[in-house]
Amino acid sequence: MAINAADLPLKNAFAELPSAFYTRLMPTPLPAPYFVAASSSAAALVGLDVAALAQDDFVAAFTGNAVPARAKPLSAVYSGHQFGVWAGQLGDGRAILLGQLDTPAGPMELQLKGAGLTPYSRMGDGRAVLRSSIREFLCSEAMAALNIPTTRALMITGSDQGVMRETVESSAVATRMAPSFVRFGSFEHWYARQRPDELRILADYVIAAFYPELAGESNPYKALLAEVTRRTAHMIAHWQAVGFMHGVMNTDNMSILGLTLDYGPFGFMEAFDSQHICNHTDQQGRYSYANQPDVGHWNCHKLGQALLPLIGNVEDAQEALDVYQGAFAAKIDELLHAKLGLDVALPEDGQLFAAMFALLDRHHVDFTQFFRKLGMLQLELPTLDAPVRDLFIERDAFDAWAVTYRARLRHEHRTDSERRRAMDAVNPKYVLRNYLAQVAIDKANNKDFSEVATLLAVLEHPFDEQHDNEAYAALPPDWASHLEVSCSS
Ligand code: AMP
Ligand code: MG
Repeated sequence: MAINAADLPLKNAFAELPSAFYTRLMPTPLPAPYFVAASSSAAALVGLDVAALAQDDFVAAFTGNAVPARAKPLSAVYSGHQFGVWAGQLGDGRAILLGQLDTPAGPMELQLKGAGLTPYSRMGDGRAVLRSSIREFLCSEAMAALNIPTTRALMITGSDQGVMRETVESSAVATRMAPSFVRFGSFEHWYARQRPDELRILADYVIAAFYPELAGESNPYKALLAEVTRRTAHMIAHWQAVGFMHGVMNTDNMSILGLTLDYGPFGFMEAFDSQHICNHTDQQGRYSYANQPDVGHWNCHKLGQALLPLIGNVEDAQEALDVYQGAFAAKIDELLHAKLGLDVALPEDGQLFAAMFALLDRHHVDFTQFFRKLGMLQLELPTLDAPVRDLFIERDAFDAWAVTYRARLRHEHRTDSERRRAMDAVNPKYVLRNYLAQVAIDKANNKDFSEVATLLAVLEHPFDEQHDNEAYAALPPDWASHLEVSCSS
């Protein structure tokens, strides 16, 4: 579809809500914006030609310099719990919703992140730096390719206008896409203000637009809480299975659609450590790998509290929240079976999984490589275990677990090659390791954006053997050990 950015057929259902939910405003232009990167699969989702995104009209539109005629730009208000503490009003401090595009899969909202000050910017400058925009862009698209529920990233533009962080960095705008950016904190906001009418309007909007099947339930608000709880549990099971750590699971970063939202100080597990904390700012480890499932439940609880005036009684809210443990357990069990190439489920499998995690934890084995190389195991040929076995400094430790694993595999009916194919389809070879992102960022800071595109292309096919790209599956180099990521940038 050849279309000018100015003519994008945008609608904005969120803007039809009462004005209490947002502030209408215009993005603040950036000087001399340039194209950094775009995702062809994200573009395809909204019927845009990725090549067109590099043209001046789209660069201007998606920097916020030339707002499409039919856009109704706005920033939404929300509140939230940050690191377990009520933080009061937050809101889109640097994000501006342009509107939505209709797609065969339903409406997709387009949001500019880093497009300037809003009434919710608080102490911030309304900007995003190129570094963090590249991280969000790559990780959004990597997660989508890993089949994990996520917001998407359409493109990044940059500008030489400096923004102050620890040092001066160049600014960027990332265009994100999701059916909705409503968060748990969007509901907490009205609950805290004791405004049941707005709470109901928002819940009715979310149900009608995104959960229409719940509208006919006897208590649709309870059904909404139960469904969001289930989706959140499933999303976090997916995170655990691929070693993804979000880093800042505040309730304002929890999507009402169960999508991974707000990529900041995230990380993928490398040398396995269940207590790993990927966010340098998170000194207590509230959002460590091991804590993510419980934090997800805690966050749902905060949503439940906010929806309580609509649900009507604590018992119903509790019942909806009780969905969490079962949904998480069932999903992680399913994903771990798949990761280990197990087709049938046996009662003792929980023990096998626990022993495996203990083994990985004790020997700090690279999470991604372990599962990928485990797929090469040949049932009757332990002498050929080297690929996975050599990941362990103490080879005997692997051998002992492998005895149990082999015994377990004898209850399966797949051949070695069938099992490997099944495992390769769920155990990625390529994930967004911090050092890979850093290499792309360092080049981008010198105006060479080629590595962003190359890395995106690799991460779009995480399960494939990409023979020219073996290097992207490598363990982090020594220089990467000092890489730190922290909250908003
Ligand atoms: P985050 O940790 O990125 O989820 O952000 C938490 C809150 O701080 C949200 O309300 C953001 O909009 C706001 N925020 C983060 N960075 C900035 C910034 N540079 N300018 C304005 N607001 C920001
Ligand atoms: Mg946020």
